[in-house]
This record gives sequence, structure tokens and C-alpha cells, in this order.
Amino acid sequence: MTIVIALLLGILFLAFTVWSIRFIASGPPPEPSLDTVHSVDVPYLCTVCGLSLTVTEAQDGEITAPRHCREDMVRAI
Ligand SMILES: [Zn+2]
Repeated sequence: MTIVIALLLGILFLAFTVWSIRFIASGPPPEPSLDTVHSVDVPYLCTVCGLSLTVTEAQDGEITAPRHCREDMVRAI
């Protein structure tokens, strides 16, 4: 029984190591094209702590709400 547990832990450790090396080797995501970045003025509010911030630049398309206090911030009007 001990050998089975040791083999399972070894396989798990090996799989995690391979995943980590592949993740590191893939490198960072490509830089966004500056042609698609434009000025916006979208205020957000954290409903947990009350922090507010304003997104001033974003890429084309829908702006994803930032997270704070482990929650999605809500768009302030
Ligand atoms: Zn917060």
C-alpha cells in the first residue's frame, strides 16, 4: 500500500513539474497592439471596501470589470 501511495505522489509531482515547465516556457502573453487601445472614462467601485477607480485606457470591445477584495468591481454611474 505504501508503494502505491508513493507511486501516485510521484506521478502527481512529475505531472505538476511538467505543467510548470510548460507554463514557464510558454512565456508572457503578447503585448497588446497600441492601435486597438483608445481612451475611455469608466468608473468602477468595490462594493466590499469602497475603493473606486477609473479605467482611462482600454482595448476595443467589452471592458472586463477589475477585481478587488476578491470580487468583481461594479460599474459606477
Ligand atoms: Zn475592495
